[in-house]
Amino acid sequence: MVPVIALVGRPNVGKSTLFNQLTRSRDALVANVAGLTRDRKYGEGKVGSHPYIVIDTGGISGDEEGIDSAMAEQSLLAINEADVVLFLVDARAGLTAADEMIALHLRKQGKKYHLVLNKVDRVDAEQAETDFASLGIGGAYHIAAVHGRGVSNMINNVLLEC
Ligand code: GDP
Ligand code: MG
Repeated sequence: MVPVIALVGRPNVGKSTLFNQLTRSRDALVANVAGLTRDRKYGEGKVGSHPYIVIDTGGISGDEEGIDSAMAEQSLLAINEADVVLFLVDARAGLTAADEMIALHLRKQGKKYHLVLNKVDRVDAEQAETDFASLGIGGAYHIAAVHGRGVSNMINNVLLEC
């Protein structure tokens, strides 16, 4: 069975950037515009000879209406499809209400998930750890998806438990 990894988080935290790193494809719409990915998007990657599938999502912001609620729905479907969820937050922006809402949802789901502090190229790692401590999710990965920093270590560890 090929493990399926869903990338979940509010808009603009770096999900599509990480998707591109993990799949070596440029298919996801990566942009400054929040929530450009309108649908679930699947990609394939490999660690050594072990393949995996990654799902990119449009993001959950917490107060969805219209197209945004459709995107949130896609994120929820992606979580259902996944073996493991990578819950991305923006370490530079700090903790937001949307992050807290997503954390709550993941706790209820009972699906395996990991907290991923992205954009650590712009912040002190310890400060970021402190900012997000109230989510109560231990063992966060620290990455800078835009540079690929910490990404292979993270995917290696995540796949080991699949
Ligand atoms: P998404 O909405 O969660 O898919 O976020 P995107 O992947 O589209 O990224 C949103 C913005 O954050 C883009 O301008 C990215 O270049 C930027 N970004 C993503 N990862 C990093 C990172 O590790 N460091 C920094 N400084 N910026 C990042
Ligand atoms: Mg995106």
